[in-house]
Amino acid sequence: MSKQPLGPASISARDPQWTAGNPPHQLPIYAASSFTFESIEQGIAIFEGNTPGNIYSRFGNPTIDAVADKIARLEGRGLPGDTYGLLTSSGMAAISLIGLGLLNPGDVVLTQADLYGGTVALFRDVLQPLGIKMIIHDLRDEEGLTRILEENDQIKMIYTETPSNPTLRCVDLERLAAFAKAYDCFTVVDNTFATPILQQPLAYGIDFVLHSTTKYLNGHATGTAGVLVSQHKDLMQQQLLTKLRLLGCTASPWEAWLLHNGMKTLALRMERHCQNAQMVAEMLLAQENVATVHYLGLPDHPDHELAKTQMQGPGGMISFELAGGLTAGKVFLNRLKFCTLTPTLGDVDTLILHPATMSHRAIAPEVRRAHGISDGLIRISVGIEDIADILYDLEQAINS
Ligand SMILES: *Cc1c(COP(=O)(O)O)cnc(C)c1O
Repeated sequence: MSKQPLGPASISARDPQWTAGNPPHQLPIYAASSFTFESIEQGIAIFEGNTPGNIYSRFGNPTIDAVADKIARLEGRGLPGDTYGLLTSSGMAAISLIGLGLLNPGDVVLTQADLYGGTVALFRDVLQPLGIKMIIHDLRDEEGLTRILEENDQIKMIYTETPSNPTLRCVDLERLAAFAKAYDCFTVVDNTFATPILQQPLAYGIDFVLHSTTKYLNGHATGTAGVLVSQHKDLMQQQLLTKLRLLGCTASPWEAWLLHNGMKTLALRMERHCQNAQMVAEMLLAQENVATVHYLGLPDHPDHELAKTQMQGPGGMISFELAGGLTAGKVFLNRLKFCTLTPTLGDVDTLILHPATMSHRAIAPEVRRAHGISDGLIRISVGIEDIADILYDLEQAINS
């Protein structure tokens, strides 16, 4: 895929609603729960949707809408047609919205086992009791997929996370989209790990893209939000917008503004995340007491070649295991001085997490292990600090 120029959406989202004289250089925060009408006639026209306008911030708000639109334009850059975005109160809210907004009792979701822990728990504990079943299968196994889709005509959605958390396995987006179209299913990609800078799923025919913007898009760990993006105008502007308003999972204007501010440096940050992560992965590989390293930029990663075809870079996420397994891993985590032990990712600073006891604790241990998430596996979200500081800390924690 050719690298598209990012265009104005990557730099600024000005306030599209600004009418009072010359607009401010920065996006204003509309800290208002509701909007006023000049007359009952205007109120009726806005409520009926005949005149554009704002009503109530759970329905939409100029700050929230400007940021949703900015991310939509970033995910849809270079593509024919318009792209629509809905900003939600968290990444989980975006996943809930696509699940509850698009699926009905009797429908089935086809998905992979290596998903974000919260997504697995949402499918199991919220959607399943409502009569929405899930089938878990390796989405790279095309023979298996054909059999499952032939046997289950209630499959309405194929849901994937690529690269996946934390072993960074990838799914071929173009093939998956073609597959899903042949069986009349919607495709959904959680693009949190890649960001729209490194991977543009809509360009491969994927129907819906979502993010936990809490991670790379915000980039500074200052706010929780999520986004759902698609070119399906009617579904986005009618069905899903209505469900978003009813579920009440709209983002707050303040969080939207923080996200917008963070996104100004997204393209620059991703470049540096990739550079630093490559050096960290190569350092880990050279250590005697490191048993395994998963990083898409290493030629021995099983999806190294696929990632090169559908991503603009291998990203900032690495997972690895020490030869001493869990015991050695715990010693390593307690020795860190510069890197931070915290359950998030995608920030400017280097963050470390232990998947088995933190992000993936909701997944049964046998399922976890079957997908390469051993008890000793450690995940690093490599930051954009001076690489010497990162390497020094990791090496001293591994070897001292
Ligand atoms: C964090 C995360 C989520 C959930 O997002 P929240 O903003 O925490 O609700 C979903 N998917 C992935 C891949 C994540 O990393």
